[in-house]
Amino acid sequence: MILPVATGGLVYSVGTPGGIMSPLQGEEIIMLLKGSCHCGAVKFSVRSSTPYPYMRCYCSICRKTAGGGGYAINIMGKAKSLKVKGEENVSVYRAMVAEGKAKSKTLSEARRHFCSKCGSALWVADPRWAEWVYPFASAIDTPLPKPIEEVEIMLEFTAPWVEIPEGPGHTHFDEYPDEGIADWHKKRLLEVP
Ligand SMILES: [Zn+2]
Repeated sequence: MILPVATGGLVYSVGTPGGIMSPLQGEEIIMLLKGSCHCGAVKFSVRSSTPYPYMRCYCSICRKTAGGGGYAINIMGKAKSLKVKGEENVSVYRAMVAEGKAKSKTLSEARRHFCSKCGSALWVADPRWAEWVYPFASAIDTPLPKPIEEVEIMLEFTAPWVEIPEGPGHTHFDEYPDEGIADWHKKRLLEVP
């Protein structure tokens, strides 16, 4: 069953088979997302009310560690609901970054979790936003709802060979976007407050 969700002139088709319900009916939109690395040594699941993979990050860390096409997409789930099988095969990478206008680099708070055996990027966790966990859309096996709008961020760091999609439905940011993943979903009535 497909439920149209009117959002400021745009209509989203939200399919129920994936577990998503129409917010207009007052039901909670929640998906159980199942994910895994390529070799199967790590499997995980997480509950999410923000499952639309709409934001492409073109920063150098995403490009090198997870984004062969020049970008990576993270979605967001509830950290408390994260269940991991094969946790002993999970490694964590913290990049050295220059935050804001800082001249020297420091260890990033963002913890990029990946499979030690096959290198698949799995999820990002950050103690500054401990309530959430940010799975890479590429690691999720559950069919995700397809966004009809996309946001391209960190374009200041784009590799010169990358073609950035443009036109209606694309919003660009040189660095961070002006709204977070939860706000993006809420504004489009894709998440229950
Ligand atoms: Zn693996």
